[in-house]
Amino acid sequence: MSKGYYAINPTHKKEGFLLRDPTKWETRFLELAKTVAKWSKDPSTKCGAVITKGKNKVIGIGYNGFARGMSDDTDLYNDRDEKLSRVIHAEMNAIFNSATDLTGCTMFTTIPPCERCAVHVITTGIKLWVMGSPTPEQEKRWNFSKSYQFLREAGVDIIKV
Ligand SMILES: [Zn+2]
Repeated sequence: MSKGYYAINPTHKKEGFLLRDPTKWETRFLELAKTVAKWSKDPSTKCGAVITKGKNKVIGIGYNGFARGMSDDTDLYNDRDEKLSRVIHAEMNAIFNSATDLTGCTMFTTIPPCERCAVHVITTGIKLWVMGSPTPEQEKRWNFSKSYQFLREAGVDIIKV
């Protein structure tokens, strides 16, 4: 581990984890994702996502929230079942907002993805995922290991900050 950062590169399976620090711009886009996360109206979990293409061009941003045009009533966010069926995750909103071919793009998220977002992002052709670390409480509540496994299997590099 170097400075608490690590990357998982499936092309370096024999070596296990490939260590690399995020670049200056990768760090900036992760900070941008953290800012975008604050826009979420969910009182319990706020996630942000940024997608970049080519040389540091932002092409999509998103945060977890209900579908466009649906009620944003706080009571709906506080009703867990209602929230889970209405919410669109940050990654998916960033994909919908980008509306372009995402082959070779980079995804930045405040925390690691759920399994569903992992497979959906994989199929867009995104090749690098820079993600913040979950809180110990989030780590306990959600199991991210399957998401990492899926990303590695599909050849998506991960930098977890
Ligand atoms: Zn998700």
